[in-house]
Amino acid sequence: MNLNQLTIRQAKDGLKTKKFSSVELTQDCLKQIKKFNPLLNSFITITEKGALESAVKADKLISGKQNLPLLGIPVALKDLFSTKGIKTTAAANVLRNYVPEYDATVVKKIKDAGAVILGKTNLDAWAHGSSGENSDFGPAKNPWNTEYVPGGSSSGSAVSVASEMSLAATGTDTGGSIRLPASFNNLVGLKPTYGRVSRFGIIAMSSSLDSIGHLTKTVEDNALFFGITAGSDKFDATTLPDLTENFTKNLNTGVSGLKIGIPKEFLASGLDSQVKAKFEAAVKTFENLGAKITGVSLPHTDYGIAAYYIIQPSEVSSNLARYDGIRYGLYRSYFGDEAKRRIMLGTYTLSSGYYDAYYKKAMEVRTLIKNDFTQVFQKVDALISPVCPTPPWKLGEKANDPLRMYLSDALTVTVNIAGIPSLSVPAGFSADNLPIGIQIMGRQLSESLLFQIGNAFERQTLYYKQKPNL
Ligand code: GLN
Repeated sequence: MNLNQLTIRQAKDGLKTKKFSSVELTQDCLKQIKKFNPLLNSFITITEKGALESAVKADKLISGKQNLPLLGIPVALKDLFSTKGIKTTAAANVLRNYVPEYDATVVKKIKDAGAVILGKTNLDAWAHGSSGENSDFGPAKNPWNTEYVPGGSSSGSAVSVASEMSLAATGTDTGGSIRLPASFNNLVGLKPTYGRVSRFGIIAMSSSLDSIGHLTKTVEDNALFFGITAGSDKFDATTLPDLTENFTKNLNTGVSGLKIGIPKEFLASGLDSQVKAKFEAAVKTFENLGAKITGVSLPHTDYGIAAYYIIQPSEVSSNLARYDGIRYGLYRSYFGDEAKRRIMLGTYTLSSGYYDAYYKKAMEVRTLIKNDFTQVFQKVDALISPVCPTPPWKLGEKANDPLRMYLSDALTVTVNIAGIPSLSVPAGFSADNLPIGIQIMGRQLSESLLFQIGNAFERQTLYYKQKPNL
């Protein structure tokens, strides 16, 4: 077994007991990157030299019995996270040569935890997209079948973990960008509670919806990683106060007696039959594990996409205004089609005369969606649903049909609108052997419970053990 195939937990144990060194572990990851990145287009920038230097440092600290939570563990960063001295492109031509002067808070925390940074991963430019195809650096490919999309926008991050180039990767989720690629790659992905992880230094998409999380092979790894990045930050006024918590402590508590709701609106028309079948099998598994399953209703779900695709472009139009570049010799044409579409849409919905009709209405709907969740969480501990209405689709299949592409977010956006956490976990495979995921949604700050539920499901089903045949 090559060392890049390990989980964070396994690698931590092996490093501690000196079965192997961080340099060996990092070298195996770099070998895998060199072998498969030309095919999968997962990384935009590979930081081989820096990675090996950090690994040497980590090995010294390990010898000195230092105990840092990610000491010597190789990880990848979505290229939306500012990294001091390392190019940060947002996969957009506008920032093709941008080298930040500082690290995002999350990057700083990851470095302080001793991790080895392998490089920066591909994404839909500015995180606009659901398939990875909006990248100005070419699409990443799904390692389970390279004719298929890996899901977006955190496409390269998911691909790097699924193809075992990295042990874990960071992502951002504004309307599903961690959960969708996690589910399309047989991975675990957490979209945390809004404000639980600092956004400082992460290129902003839609500031009231953006959440920072991680993609990992297992639930335990995700809980470990989240424990490092969660917490308040004086540089991000929207972060919540520090609520120190050990996110791994309830992993093995199980789901017996927990009330899990199934929102009927999430299973309405448009759901692919294979996705439905996997979801129903997952419900059975939870029942067998002792959970109490009940049907519930989130009546405003249907308005989620409409509200999201007004609120989000409105904020995008404001956030991207700073990159117009016309004062610095850049042309607006540097923006790709999707960015331009969102800037125009958002400028329109915020303009005088239309603001009340669109933006304000969408914000009212936002409150209704949030209230739906608040009411349901008085009756149940958590909710489960599919992540995407369909299995992964072929590259190019929806690329020229933005509306169809937007509909793939129908089951993920309401979580961001409400600011609640949701964990995507593997739930099986389609007839074509493409991964399908389910999500577990909870009240604000219920991440520990989501890990507990996700871990019970994972230990029962063991889908994480299946690997793509590269
Ligand atoms: N697919 C959604 C969009 O294109 C979500 C993107 C994201 O979460 N960054 O807006």
